[in-house]
Amino acid sequence: MEVQEVNIPTTVTDPHYRYKMPKIQTVLQGSGNGIKTKWVNLPEVTNALKVPLEYPLKFIGKELGSNTEVKSNGYLINGNHTAEKMQEILDKFIKKYVLCPKCKFPEIYGKIQIKKEKGEIRCQCRSCGTVSKLDSTHEFASYIKRYPPEYEKDDKPSGSGGGSKKDEKKLDATMRKNIRESSGKISKCIKNDGELNENIKIVNDILKKYNFPIDIKFYVFANGIFEKLLYTKSFEKRLPLIKHFIKNESDGNVDKALFFFLYGLNDFIFARNKGEGVKYLPSMMYYFYDKEILSEEFWRNVLDKKEQVKYNSELYNSENEKKFINACEEFNNWIKNGPYEGEEPKKEEKKDEKEDEKKEEKKEEKKEDEKKEDEKKDEKNEKKEEKNEEKKEEEKKEEEINIDDI
Ligand SMILES: [Zn+2]
Repeated sequence: MEVQEVNIPTTVTDPHYRYKMPKIQTVLQGSGNGIKTKWVNLPEVTNALKVPLEYPLKFIGKELGSNTEVKSNGYLINGNHTAEKMQEILDKFIKKYVLCPKCKFPEIYGKIQIKKEKGEIRCQCRSCGTVSKLDSTHEFASYIKRYPPEYEKDDKPSGSGGGSKKDEKKLDATMRKNIRESSGKISKCIKNDGELNENIKIVNDILKKYNFPIDIKFYVFANGIFEKLLYTKSFEKRLPLIKHFIKNESDGNVDKALFFFLYGLNDFIFARNKGEGVKYLPSMMYYFYDKEILSEEFWRNVLDKKEQVKYNSELYNSENEKKFINACEEFNNWIKNGPYEGEEPKKEEKKDEKEDEKKEEKKEEKKEDEKKEDEKKDEKNEKKEEKNEEKKEEEKKEEEINIDDI
């Protein structure tokens, strides 16, 4: 039977959201007063949530006021309960004990700790790093305190990782090895003067073996193809391959693929090559735009910080991203000012003095309008910055709960 997947939690409506769990499946057992609801796929659900098996069962039991049992023949809740109702309660559990209270991503697994003396349940987020308190007053909290989650070694904070890159810390060792290995293979095997189809096959054959999720696949792809020729003219030769991969090898997630492709380029420049070649970035970005690999709307979304939130990933590193965006400044401005303006004169070849005069007038008007727009923008930015300052203050306060405590 095919199991339907839903978002974690189901209140997130984005169909492309990366955190999924199987929908709850139940069957009824017994009858009359002895009727019980059997949660058929509890192990699959807890696997997706990365929580101990009993946690969601206990939580739902507490919420329904029903006893629960873990038996050899299954996971049971006394009474007749619909899967829909249980799913609703599971969302509540997820919001309380699976999502980071700050960024709302389910990234606190392996980092929940009980502070016995204070009776607190704390967690640290793998995604945003924030240390937060979880609800310690819910009836279920006493169960967590009595049976705190046990973690395997791999899940424990790994402080002594040998000084590897900040952004790779969150990826496990196998994934790091696979990333290095596969991107190395791509850069070795790809042919500088090869046919497009030949290179597509080479890259696909390598990537197939690893079965990476989209974010990592395109990160690897970028790291592989930029290896040797980022600063040479042969960059242009790569554009058809890049375009093909983003449009056709991304399972329809074109924006996501592009985002992590740029992420790979970003890391290639800043993490692997310490910023060398950064001056070529704006023109490279222009090439992506010109070859219709990157759209104006896409880049505006990145600048507005809409993309990375949607595609939360282990690869994310805010510092490197900031550097990348700053390095693209020329391109950013060009996009912000509307890239089509520069092309306008080409359309009208007729030389009519009056028309030219009108154009000049219009240009002047436009400039005035733009000035006003810019002033408005500046005001907005100032306000934004004020808000950011306030946020930072709040974050600082939160950070005072020392991470070392955990
Ligand atoms: Zn977080």
